[in-house]
Amino acid sequence: MPCESQFLRPTMRCRACAAPVLPEAAAAQALCAPCLREPLPLSRTWAAVDYGFPWRNLLLRLKHQEPGLATALAGLWKNSGAGTQAGAWAAAQADTQPSDATAAQQALSNVAWVLPVPASAARMQIRGYNHSRLLAQAWCVQSNSPGRLARSAWLLRVDEPATPQPATQQGASRAQRFRQLRNAFVVPPQARSAVQGQRILLIDDVMTTGATLSAAASALRQAGAADVCALVLARTASS
Ligand SMILES: [Zn+2]
Repeated sequence: MPCESQFLRPTMRCRACAAPVLPEAAAAQALCAPCLREPLPLSRTWAAVDYGFPWRNLLLRLKHQEPGLATALAGLWKNSGAGTQAGAWAAAQADTQPSDATAAQQALSNVAWVLPVPASAARMQIRGYNHSRLLAQAWCVQSNSPGRLARSAWLLRVDEPATPQPATQQGASRAQRFRQLRNAFVVPPQARSAVQGQRILLIDDVMTTGATLSAAASALRQAGAADVCALVLARTASS
């Protein structure tokens, strides 16, 4: 994407939720205050960029009208290093030692299912596509791991509040969002054997409070997943 390097800056982030943290805090504990108070069911989260100019507009276009942006936006994971770190996590879980970024990304193909956060049936009907799935699909192809993309039927969204946009989420407190989404996802019985004992990497476009990804991770853990991490394109500054 032209000029993207101008807006890609390395940021110290909380290990669990990818919220930006001060370098001192990152060095001391690796977790932000909310994650220290209340641990998430995600063992790691990586984010490519902060949610703001110019990414906000591009992510909204991807979500509502331009599915074709998925390939270029998924490239941010590689260019920011976030996707490479996620690949390295997968490699570490498999006790392999990737020698470079490419090896780290290829290692993903051996150990992890890549599972996009699903959209509700109602939203699928309105938009016609799930932008998170398009991002996951593009990233799997770019990481030489197209076979690791999990099936849509493995995780279903059964409930979605009427205000899912990051902008409107700011009106709801973190605790409210977690309550609203507590039972929003389900792993159907026929998908449990595919999930059990597996390390799963969830993919989403934006992480705001973390409630959506946490609810998805909880459903996967309840179904027997061994570990759940997340890779998002953008993280809001605070939750
Ligand atoms: Zn955190």
